[in-house]
Amino acid sequence: MRLAASIASVLLLVFVTLIAAITATLTSVFGSGSDSGPSPEAVADIPADYLALYQQAAPVCPGLDWPVLAAVGKVETDHGRLDAPGVHNGENSAGAAGPMQFLAPTFASVVARHPLPPGGASPPSRYDPHDATHAAAFYLCDSGARDGDLRAAIFGYNHADWYVEKVLAQAERYRAAASTPPASQGGWAVPAAGRCSSGFGPRDGDFHQGQDLAAPIGTPIGAAAEGTVLDAGPASGYGLRVRVQHPGGTVTTYGHNHTNHVTPGQPVRAGQPIAEVGNRGQSTGPHLHFQIDTDGGPVDPVAFYAQRGLRLCVG
Ligand SMILES: [Zn+2]
Repeated sequence: MRLAASIASVLLLVFVTLIAAITATLTSVFGSGSDSGPSPEAVADIPADYLALYQQAAPVCPGLDWPVLAAVGKVETDHGRLDAPGVHNGENSAGAAGPMQFLAPTFASVVARHPLPPGGASPPSRYDPHDATHAAAFYLCDSGARDGDLRAAIFGYNHADWYVEKVLAQAERYRAAASTPPASQGGWAVPAAGRCSSGFGPRDGDFHQGQDLAAPIGTPIGAAAEGTVLDAGPASGYGLRVRVQHPGGTVTTYGHNHTNHVTPGQPVRAGQPIAEVGNRGQSTGPHLHFQIDTDGGPVDPVAFYAQRGLRLCVG
């Protein structure tokens, strides 16, 4: 019986891995739309203001997803962090400037064809991160992204095959968590790619019974483990909430959701998308409130995952 169960779980793992590989391949070939959630690497590596700009700018182009735009920003100037001539002022020896390394004539022609949305400098500037990311999105779009040819688009940005490969590989790492569970072991999966914000324990004269994972609105939330949906809907303080009952009596809670994707009584497997990160209820910024209740009461989710060899959140 045990053997049968472990064979079944190995088969399931192979199946899930296969689906993940196929999804990743399809994603890299066709792009995955602007709603991809950031991977843990993306959350850890991209400054929050730049991540917001990439996610805001990429949708100006159908066919361009934010991880590609972010990967260009990474390879060009490490998201504006590179301390080199032309990044923050002046130009480099090739005449490029700003976080997205535009040549002056290229930037001028992009802006002439595509008026930039408000939020940047006046007049638009190559050094302004808002203007530079939006202009880069339009430029990638005109170079091929609009027609679904990301390779042509990236090659248009910098005429080198190594550059195209480097950007695509970086984009893949940034979007790694978009449609697959970030990590899974022993039947438990990390529910969402996010940064550890408020932890388990005493807080403001009360007791915070879960771990908060800060992540952009729309980041996919997966079931932490196999189980059955106990309830899914509005709940006091949580805005929208999902609770999942797992074999053995453990219950996991996912709160402040933007959208729920499951209904009570529905069986779910580990990593299956059940909701999206939101900012509803008593919440001061987009995050997932993730709680694990055992027979003995709530436990620290970070420690619970660490005991299973998994890192629940980054930072
Ligand atoms: Zn919380």
